[in-house]
Amino acid sequence: MTGLLRVGSTDGSLFCPVCASPAQDLLVLASHLVEEAEASDGGHVMWLNRNLTKHRKSIEEIERLLVSLLAEDRPSDEVVKR
Ligand SMILES: [Zn+2]
Repeated sequence: MTGLLRVGSTDGSLFCPVCASPAQDLLVLASHLVEEAEASDGGHVMWLNRNLTKHRKSIEEIERLLVSLLAEDRPSDEVVKR
């Protein structure tokens, strides 16, 4: 579970773990991942399958999974349990 999401050093913004496209927050990143996967972009589909889910999910559900994923990497007091 390493290198999933790179957190920018300057303003704390997120980057897509597949194509390094910047996203201001997890919802933006989630919608980006869903859009690319729906456009059948192999890299994004594979990343989602490997790290989040093999099933089609809504953007909101993907966002929730991303929150859980980050919580595993970086414990905080707002950990969301699956
Ligand atoms: Zn991407």
